[in-house]
Amino acid sequence: MYEDKTLICKECGEEFIFTAGEQEFYAEKGFENEPQRCKPCRDARKHAARAGREKYEAVCATCGGIATVLFKPREDRPVYCSECFAKMKESEEAKLEEAQSEEAQLEEAQSEEAQSEEAQLEEAQLEEAQSEEA
Ligand SMILES: [Zn+2]
Ligand SMILES: [Zn+2]
Repeated sequence: MYEDKTLICKECGEEFIFTAGEQEFYAEKGFENEPQRCKPCRDARKHAARAGREKYEAVCATCGGIATVLFKPREDRPVYCSECFAKMKESEEAKLEEAQSEEAQLEEAQSEEAQSEEAQLEEAQLEEAQSEEA
């Protein structure tokens, strides 16, 4: 029923496998979101949380500034400072949110409401204008 899926880790940008077994587990638990991070990053975060946030310093691949990260930087992987990472995350999250249809649908419903309100307002203004003319 489930098939292994390749996801991109939000933390290190690396691909990881969301296995069929994990998907089943997530479904059982009623988790709606797929994991955002690969196993090493999840472990690193857990570890960091336990160890009072162990941090690593590296050079930001984008701006060359000091990047403080919660996972051990790897030489073959770019590391970003929190600013650059936030910027990247923003654009990534924009895409992600679009995919999360529930939110999108809610927004759509809201904008439809707003549009009909606008239309009503316009109508009211039109009527007002007409009655002024008359
Ligand atoms: Zn990762
Ligand atoms: Zn940077």
